[in-house]
Amino acid sequence: MASNGYRNGTGTNKGAIKPPASSNIRSSSFKSRLPPSSNHSPGSALRRTSSASFTTAAGVPGRVRVAVRLRPRNAEESTADADFADCVELQPELKRLKLRKNNWESETYEFDEVLTEFASQKRVYEVVAKPVVESVLDGYNGTVMAYGQTGTGKTFTLGRLGEEDTSARGIMVRSMEEILVNVSRETDSISVSYLQLYMETIQDLLDPANDNISIVEDPRTGDVSLPGATHVEIKDEQSFLELLRLGEAHRIAANTKLNTESSRSHAILMVHVKRSVLGEEVAIPTESDKSSHFVKPPKPLVRKSKLVLVDLAGSERVQKSGSEGHMLEEAKSINLSLSALGKCINALAENSAHVPIRDSKLTRLLRDSFGGTARTSLIVTIGPSPRHRGETASTILFGQRAMKVENMLRIKEEFDYKSLARRLEIQLDKLIAENERQQKAFDDEVERINLEAQNRVSEVERNFTDALEKERLKCQMEYMESVKKLEEKMIENQQKHQHDGFMKDKCNGEGPGFCEDIAVIKKLLEKETHMRKEAEKEVNKLKSQLGQHMDAGAGGDAEILKLQIALEDEVHQKKKLEEEIIILRSQMLQLTFEADQMRRCLARGGSGNAYPGLDSPMSQVRDSLSGHKTPVSALFDQVGVEKILDLLESEDANVRIHAVKVVANLAAEEANQERIVEAGGLTSLLMLLRSYEDETVRRVAAGAIANLAMNEANQELIMVQGGISLLSTTASDAEDPQTLRMVAGAIANLCGNDKLQATLRSEGGIKALLGMVRCRHPDVLSQVARGIANFAKCESRASTNGIRSGRSLLIDEGALPWIVQNANNDAAPIRRHIELALCHLAQHEANAKDMINGGALWELVRITRDCSREDIRSLARRTLNSSLLFRSEMRRLRIEL
Ligand code: ADP
Ligand code: MG
Repeated sequence: MASNGYRNGTGTNKGAIKPPASSNIRSSSFKSRLPPSSNHSPGSALRRTSSASFTTAAGVPGRVRVAVRLRPRNAEESTADADFADCVELQPELKRLKLRKNNWESETYEFDEVLTEFASQKRVYEVVAKPVVESVLDGYNGTVMAYGQTGTGKTFTLGRLGEEDTSARGIMVRSMEEILVNVSRETDSISVSYLQLYMETIQDLLDPANDNISIVEDPRTGDVSLPGATHVEIKDEQSFLELLRLGEAHRIAANTKLNTESSRSHAILMVHVKRSVLGEEVAIPTESDKSSHFVKPPKPLVRKSKLVLVDLAGSERVQKSGSEGHMLEEAKSINLSLSALGKCINALAENSAHVPIRDSKLTRLLRDSFGGTARTSLIVTIGPSPRHRGETASTILFGQRAMKVENMLRIKEEFDYKSLARRLEIQLDKLIAENERQQKAFDDEVERINLEAQNRVSEVERNFTDALEKERLKCQMEYMESVKKLEEKMIENQQKHQHDGFMKDKCNGEGPGFCEDIAVIKKLLEKETHMRKEAEKEVNKLKSQLGQHMDAGAGGDAEILKLQIALEDEVHQKKKLEEEIIILRSQMLQLTFEADQMRRCLARGGSGNAYPGLDSPMSQVRDSLSGHKTPVSALFDQVGVEKILDLLESEDANVRIHAVKVVANLAAEEANQERIVEAGGLTSLLMLLRSYEDETVRRVAAGAIANLAMNEANQELIMVQGGISLLSTTASDAEDPQTLRMVAGAIANLCGNDKLQATLRSEGGIKALLGMVRCRHPDVLSQVARGIANFAKCESRASTNGIRSGRSLLIDEGALPWIVQNANNDAAPIRRHIELALCHLAQHEANAKDMINGGALWELVRITRDCSREDIRSLARRTLNSSLLFRSEMRRLRIEL
């Protein structure tokens, strides 16, 4: 169908088909995009790379594409040529054109595209210009140029604005439309220059006063620019249309005979496209991906490409146009540029060594378009009239030659320092802002934590103080109540005792009730201990929290320091309260103990004595317990020996007295002695002997020491810790018979240790013992006598075993006169101890002489006769009989046993 549509198109094809311009024409589609770099043929490409490239990237070959467009007959032609066939016949499906020579001969030419008189403006744009525009958007230079005889439709093809009919819009408008759709308003920019080349002068169509613009070539890259030309930034299609209208109004149009609308100047529209892109090989950080800041900065690139749209002046010969005078000059100039273009294209098509680019301004301006780095499309326009057959033929030949021109397409891309700097600046500002935000958030958080910590500390402080106060009050109340109850019980017991005289009944009656009380007190104490432990835990927790808070925020240091001081105060307060609690407990312990004693005394019908006797200190405790722990011991377990011993050093004298009493009572029980000594109780008690200001303390301490001194291991400890000198000092200072009794008892116990004999004497123990006889109290004297008896017994044992010899140390220390004096003391315990002492002394011959001289013999004789104890009587007799000196003295005195 298509071939039928052409007039004179059938049966006339006698001529041979002209060979294609080059072998690769057919295989390349006119629309094809840039070939991949692997298709690049270096041999052909390198030949022309020098001209306009300013990047170092290797180019890709891109031949100049040529389309031919036939204008429909105009009104004149329709009339004048009515009887003639068109000079051309088109075969668009074969992309061929036949040019008739005459009625029977024609020549066939192949083009990249053959556009018939029916081709729409849209199709023309898509086929001819769109691939070029797309290349420009990709960063390549591009050229679309219309060549043809005046009146064949160059301006129609390129420059129509299509204001009344949008389908009539030409390539200029459609190209801009496409560019505007594809660029980014933010990062890209488009500007336009519109120029006219007329008689080798470049005029600015956007500024007519600017009528001699010079061409500048970059010596390094060979790139051509027109720095003097006006560049107008294009934001939308409307502003572009206005610009074109303005340009058109300025365009010099000279009428010719051929067509009143045709122009004899070359119109050049330059569209500069600047696009920012990022290098593909580098990861692009996203807004949300904060971690990739500065990690791999993308490589910012800028692509500065240029689309050149050239509406050439008519290609017809001057003489035919009928120009005269000035018009003739003008036609020559027009032809100068056009013929220079033709020569260049010929040279390029034939691979000529010299391409006369510099011959005209047009060829200089278009150096990148032909044989350069741009993608170039040429549209040659022809008319159908056989009258212009010659012009049409030369136009076709121009197009054919242009098809042979091979360009080396190269992307116009360079590193975008400005954009990089801008991007980094923005990123930096973002980071600064982010940092500021984070810092503020951090400060707020620290402040919040401090405040919270402060609140919590004060809340716990409050709770803790309340709890302690409550506990203290409760303890006090309980203590008062216990005291009251015990007093009531005591009174009740005393009354019962007086009335009935039968303590058996009393014991049975009150025992269980008392035990219940103790149990209650024990429970209370347990509860209290538990509460205290809880409070301690809370304090520790708070301390650790405080530590954490201090770490978290250095800013809140001062505040936390204050809180710490407050907390320390609180701890101190708590310690004081705890001490008070211990005191209360020890008081309770003491009371319990006294009550215990009282009960036992009542049970025995004796008088109340809080401290067990020295002779048999543990008997009272043991007798009623039958293997069970006493209530006192149980309480002692709860309170803990260390805490009681701590109280011995309390600043409060009352507390000290209480504590020492408790310790003394505990020391009376053999089971407690080891624990007391282990906890350093002995040392503490010895220290108390120095507290001259209080007799009670000294008395009770001495009693406790006396009890502890019953144990052999403790005796050595007492000596090691200088106890004998402390006891001696007390013995010489004290006046109170009870104190002296306790001190004497303690020394008496030490006297019974074989290992300590020498030390006792050397450290003044014997002297101290004998010194105490100044107090005539029988209890004191009894302890002194016991000590002497113990010492004498050890000495005699050592003498018998051959460990020692010589006179008794007792005699050395001057004890004998007192011994003799009190050998017949009225008090039975004194008498018995002295009788035993005399027997022991007499057993050693070294003492005999002194004893005889001191009157001891008479006493020994008396013992053999008067002593109420048979064992002692016989011991005395045996002793006297076994001594030579005693026997001879008895003989001399005529004493017979
Ligand atoms: P040139 O710029 O080559 O001198 P113009 O573009 O001015 O030619 O066209 C000359 C006349 O022909 C104009 O009136 C134009 O409208 C008309 N014309 C050109 N090409 C076509 C076409 N393809 N279809 C219809 N009219 C056309
Ligand atoms: Mg024109």
